[in-house]
Order: sequence, then C-alpha cells, then structure tokens
Amino acid sequence: MPARNILVINCGSSSIKFALVNEDHEHSAISGLAERLGSPDAQVHWQQDGNKQSLMLPNADHRAALAQVLPLAQTTAGGQLHGIGHRVVHGGEYFTAASKLDHSTIAAIRATAPLAPLHNPANLLGIEAAIKLFPNLIQVAVFDTAFHQTLPEHAYRYALPESLYRDHGVRRYGFHGTSHCFVSQRAAEMTGLPVNASSWLVAHLGNGCSTCAIVNGQSRDTSMGLTPLEGVVMGTRSGDVDPNLHGHLARTLGWDLQQIEDMLNKNSGLLGLSGLSNDMRSLEQAREQGHAGATLAIEVFCYRLAKSLAAMSCALPQLDGLIFTGGIGENSALIRSKTVAHLTLLNLALDELANASTVRGVAGPIHAHGHPRVMVVPTNEERQIALDTLALLDA
Ligand code: ADP
Repeated sequence: MPARNILVINCGSSSIKFALVNEDHEHSAISGLAERLGSPDAQVHWQQDGNKQSLMLPNADHRAALAQVLPLAQTTAGGQLHGIGHRVVHGGEYFTAASKLDHSTIAAIRATAPLAPLHNPANLLGIEAAIKLFPNLIQVAVFDTAFHQTLPEHAYRYALPESLYRDHGVRRYGFHGTSHCFVSQRAAEMTGLPVNASSWLVAHLGNGCSTCAIVNGQSRDTSMGLTPLEGVVMGTRSGDVDPNLHGHLARTLGWDLQQIEDMLNKNSGLLGLSGLSNDMRSLEQAREQGHAGATLAIEVFCYRLAKSLAAMSCALPQLDGLIFTGGIGENSALIRSKTVAHLTLLNLALDELANASTVRGVAGPIHAHGHPRVMVVPTNEERQIALDTLALLDA
C-alpha cells in the first residue's frame, strides 16, 4: 500500500494553519496559513519545496479559504488524500482520544465550548467547512486535552466544593497533549526504552508553555489546568498567581473581569515582566545588552519552570529523562542551562557543549556524563495529529 497523506487543519477565529503530512515523511510537503479571514485583507500563504507563495482572498471566510487550500493539498498529494485531521483545543471529559467526526462528536465538541469559548467554536468553523467541501473523506478531531484524561483524580481535582466539579466541570484538564505525547514517544524510541515502561518529565516551551509527567505512555500530571493560563510563565500569560488577585485588583483598582483576564492572558508573562517583548529570542538579545527587565523575565521564567518540573517529579516512579521541546526548549541553550541549574536536588546537570550544539531542529541528549538523562526532542504536533487520524482510519 502506498504511504498515505493526511491534511492537518488548525482553525483559529480568523486563521487556518494547515499541513499535508505523509506517513513516510517527517516533513510536510506543503504547509501554510490563511489569515485575517473575514476581512478585506484575507490571504493565504504556503510553502512547498522551499518555495513560498501567497494569494489574496478578500473577505474570504473559513469555507472560502479551505476551498483554496484543499485542492492545493489534493494536487500535492497526487490526488491521494486519505483523511483530514482537525486540531480541537478542548475535549472536556468526553473525549479521551481522537474521534471520527460525525453528528454526535460535533455536538459533543459544541457542548464543550463553554470550557474553551474562544477556541472550540473556531475549531468547529473549520470542521464544518471541511465536511461540506469533502463529505466523503474521513475527518478526525484530535484534542489538546485528550492525552491528559489519564490524570489520576488527586492530580486533576481542585480543592474546591465538589459541586463545581460535578455540575460544572471545574477541574484540571491540561493542554499541549499532542506535543507531550509525541515527544515522549520519540524520546522512548531514541533511547531504546519501551514507551510502556518509561517515565518522563516534559517541558513544552513555545508561546504557551507547560510541563508534564508521563509514566508508561500516559500523562499523570501537567501544569495547565481548567484553562491554559495555569502553570508556568509563558510569552504573554502569567501562569500561576494568587487566586485572590482578581478580588484585590477589583477592590483596589476597580478593574472589571475583562480587564483582569486580558492582563493575565495578554500582557503578563515574559512581556509583562520584561516590559519589552513576549519573544524569548528578543529577550536573550536584550539581556546580553544589560536590559534589566529582560534579565528578570528570564530568571523568573527559568526558576518557575524548574519549580514546576520538580513538582511534576512527584508523579514519577523513576526519572528516565527530562525532555525540552517547543521553540524555546528546542533552541535556547541558555534557558535549558538556567532551568537545570535549579534542579541539582534531582541530580540533573548538563554537558554545556552538547547543550550549545543541540539547537535548530537537532535532537539528542544534553546531560553531563553520570547524571540523569536530559534531551532535546523537536515536537511535531501536525505529525501526531496525522498519526492519530491514520490510527482511526485503520481501526
Ligand atoms: P508556538 O507556541 O506559537 O508554536 P513556538 O514553539 O514556535 O511557538 O515558540 C516560539 C518561542 O520560541 C518564541 O518565544 C521564540 O522567541 C522562541 N525561540 C525560537 N527560536 C529561538 C532561539 N534561537 N533562541 C531563543 N528562543 C527562541
């Protein structure tokens, strides 16, 4: 049987990211972004064989943009497109794995929207448009939360009145599940350990950041919670703060809920601490030039990340390795070095030469000889979504 092709789609409220994944090839044959959908400036950009192209699509909505993207993918796949995998942010407690899309799964995704009011409705726009355009192609939803449905109750419950959980679903869900799953499986392959007999700590560090404890291929704890705001410091998100902060700001500054949520999600994290940027590369450059805010942002980021990883170690029976991934985790030797320096009680130490050279897509070990394993493993969420889609095609 020739290798199969899956189109992976990730819809935002005004954008669609897409990639064509072939099961035998690590890199996408075509990938791109349709953006500013619904506006006169709507356009689609894509990359194919190293060539970049773009097309203006004034006022195109999700369906009009997909109507351009799908034939592109079909042609690139030589007419052999086998399925579409849709990224969906929140699967609540209903989805413990990827699911084929039909009326009942779409209804369940819609019912979960109160838990992800910005994301799930946007994901549904793409799903519904793709089904209308390709009614005969199998389409699958892959959830950011599903991998974490194996958390034990003591890890997913908040210490809140039970009715909030029972009647309103207030619990910890966790996100970045496709990435945590992908890199822990890849780390097991790289080290020759069986996935179902290995224990990992993962630091996924992109614009959003989260940590995860994975035992025998299952998530046992993770730093994000009910929403992706909980946990470690991120590009613009605060991560953990005192839950009384809302009341304090309302009482002392008269801020309303929207102002507080915007501040915590859009103006905090690296951006808020540094007063400069949410982008780690820019902060590293500013730190080199002595910028105090950038220096502080990096210190807080690494210390809180190390604290979170140490907390995650409570969920592991043993440590087979700490994995760094995401744009920061894959590229920043500085952040890896500073974070690991806070984890000497776990006996972690880096080989700084290996650390410095394991960047820009290189995978491999970076720990010092005789110390527990620390690895860099580039993530590939599109590939994981395609693999999950293929698994359902085979089922
Ligand atoms: P997203 O979560 O949007 O997928 P990425 O995984 O691409 O984000 O990560 C983006 C982050 O990675 C940004 O903060 C960016 O500055 C950082 N990054 C990328 N390359 C480097 C680098 N060479 N050094 C430090 N940080 C980097």
